[in-house]
Amino acid sequence: MHYESISITKPLLPKFEELEEEIKEILSTGQITNGKYVSIIESLVAEYIGVKQVVAVSSCTLGLILALQSAGLKGKIIIPSFTFSATGHSLWWNGLEPVFVDCCPNTFNIDVTKIEEQLTEDVSCILAVHIFGNPADVKELEKIAHKYNLYLLFDAAHGFGGTFDGKTLGSFGDAEVFSLSPTKLLVAGEGGLITTNNRELANKIRIARNYGDPGTYNCKNIGLNARMSEFHAILAIKSLPLVKKNIYRRQSIVQRYIKNLSNIPGISFQQINPQAESTFKDFSILIDRDKFGMDRDSLADILMSKNISSRRYFYPPLHRQDVYRKYFSQYDKLLPNTNYVSFNILNLPIYFGLT
Ligand SMILES: *Cc1c(COP(=O)(O)O)cnc(C)c1O
Repeated sequence: MHYESISITKPLLPKFEELEEEIKEILSTGQITNGKYVSIIESLVAEYIGVKQVVAVSSCTLGLILALQSAGLKGKIIIPSFTFSATGHSLWWNGLEPVFVDCCPNTFNIDVTKIEEQLTEDVSCILAVHIFGNPADVKELEKIAHKYNLYLLFDAAHGFGGTFDGKTLGSFGDAEVFSLSPTKLLVAGEGGLITTNNRELANKIRIARNYGDPGTYNCKNIGLNARMSEFHAILAIKSLPLVKKNIYRRQSIVQRYIKNLSNIPGISFQQINPQAESTFKDFSILIDRDKFGMDRDSLADILMSKNISSRRYFYPPLHRQDVYRKYFSQYDKLLPNTNYVSFNILNLPIYFGLT
């Protein structure tokens, strides 16, 4: 039996003809970096989100690194362990230590009720993640950050176009950082966007993405080259109008998945906060091995034998990865939901063109 192969995701991209004019222009003027298209995508996104400042960078990872650096953070940072590696790695590049907080077993986002018990004097910031595009509990996180005078950042890699209380993600906390890589909602090929209402922070990040050079060759700090190129900016500009219809299509795929899978024993779904709209960057199911009759890995093997890709996001969780092994013994007992979700989750194909 031959099965059509179904990938886990595919980017929704504009046609070449839509980019042709701009690409021809930058090739003929030679302005292929430090040009107007990066400024244009920054303004378009500021308007789309309703946020004052947008700084485009070459990846979300570098955006996180530069946001932490420019905020001048010290000590320890609260992060989930149930996330992508880059959330954690951004701390190391700034000499910061993670404090891993468990996730909620239903939403898979950081469990806001477990943050206070892990706060110490040297915690300076909460870095939360909108897991799979499901907005984190931003209002509660803002309350905690305010109460303890903590910085609040969001790794919004999955979150472009999602909303909380009717407000588009990107203006919560002190800053949010989006990814524009091909598996995410807004695609530039590679790229990131830092969004904030704090002009001073945005200006620091603008200098930091350019080696730390404010334009005088007299550097202010140890920056990076984290600039977005004009090619990537043009692709992002042409992808921006596609985001909404991509999210609608994903919502209808999710409804269909849930309708058809919900009466199978042992399958449950990520719960979306009723105040929020997810981007459904990913669609995941949790497999209860006893009720379902097989474990998550066996199901993945069977899907693969029928040419259907699936993914185990995020497995292993950060505190169980080799690179973070020194945190394992301190944190593993504090992260039962993270372990449960990570060991039983399976992400199924979801993308605009999925038949
Ligand atoms: C993809 C991703 C990143 C990294 O984004 P890049 O643009 O590839 O650097 C960071 N955090 C999360 C949660 C991600 O999924």
